[in-house]
Amino acid sequence: MKIITIIGARPQFIKAAVVSRAMQQAGIQEFILHTGQHYDYTMSELFFTQLGLPAPKWHLNCGNDISLMRETILPILRDEKPDIVLVYGDTYSTLAGAQAAHELHIPIAHVEAGLRSFNDTMPEEHNRIETDRMATWLFCPTRTAVENLHREGYRQGIYHVGDVMLDAARIYTPDEPTQLAILQQNGVVSKHFALATIHRASTAENEATIKSIMEALAQLPYEVLLPLHPHTTKTVAASSVLQQIIAKAGNIHIIEPVGYIEMLVLERHAQLIFTDSGGVQKEAFFQGTPCITLREETEWTETIEAGWNRLAGTDTQRILQAVSESFAKQPILDFGDGKSAKQIIEILCQNGY
Ligand code: UDP
Repeated sequence: MKIITIIGARPQFIKAAVVSRAMQQAGIQEFILHTGQHYDYTMSELFFTQLGLPAPKWHLNCGNDISLMRETILPILRDEKPDIVLVYGDTYSTLAGAQAAHELHIPIAHVEAGLRSFNDTMPEEHNRIETDRMATWLFCPTRTAVENLHREGYRQGIYHVGDVMLDAARIYTPDEPTQLAILQQNGVVSKHFALATIHRASTAENEATIKSIMEALAQLPYEVLLPLHPHTTKTVAASSVLQQIIAKAGNIHIIEPVGYIEMLVLERHAQLIFTDSGGVQKEAFFQGTPCITLREETEWTETIEAGWNRLAGTDTQRILQAVSESFAKQPILDFGDGKSAKQIIEILCQNGY
């Protein structure tokens, strides 16, 4: 069986790393195509090195241009004739890869199928709905994702395999001495601190929204580490208002995006996590840390229902109100047993490939 994995953005490198390991263990031939959607060292190459993800056979330079991605991927798939194209999540790389495979009648496996935010203004929502429509295998991380697909009329190819991000968190969370070293490098040994990430386009490009979030973070009685996505860094760098708030606050520390292993450790030891990221909301639960989500909705409703996560939007007072309330922290079994990648590969193999 020959699989081409099409990825291009940070969370996809992490998900692909665990599935790639399972493929190697099963003796499956996999080739990686990187669209070039994320290209900074700290958003791309670092993950290949740190997670042992095989180097891409094709490394395109498409940025965020979905048409260019699709047109560049097409001749590669035509020449290579893989049995399956494997795509992850909801980015432009996901949809471009699926569209190219679909045009050539190559079966598509979609990992993280069925997620819905029900917010039509998000490009991610469009990307995931369209990708699900073309996929033969819909690998769902949660029962909610399965139910979403059933509601949309899907009947075949749906598999609740759990979340490959749980596999990743279990595999890559380092031992205690390494955790301590990472906390030392970040100046937070034995300290209360919060961890925050902001990267979603609707927030990252909006000075007023970032200001509202920063004004909440500035009022916390502890330090806040903010590994900032390049997208958001651009807005902050161009805004004297934001820079003044951060300088005056004194407790907000903007740092470069960190590696995945460092991120897992910071998530584990933080008092609280503030994020608009999908992956970080779940990792907060995996690492036992409560989370405040800086959005109005989430695809990961289980984390809200179980009392690990709270939706606060981006309003300063709402964020501070969310901080002041306690978290119920009930168990969540829906994300599987940390062996989702193995299940995905077994299912693909059972299908006669
Ligand atoms: N992440 C990381 N370094 C950082 C920030 C995030 O390794 O500085 C990881 C994080 O642990 C999670 C993933 O990136 O696994 C989330 O990616 P992102 O927030 O870009 O996308 P989303 O999950 O919202 O699709």
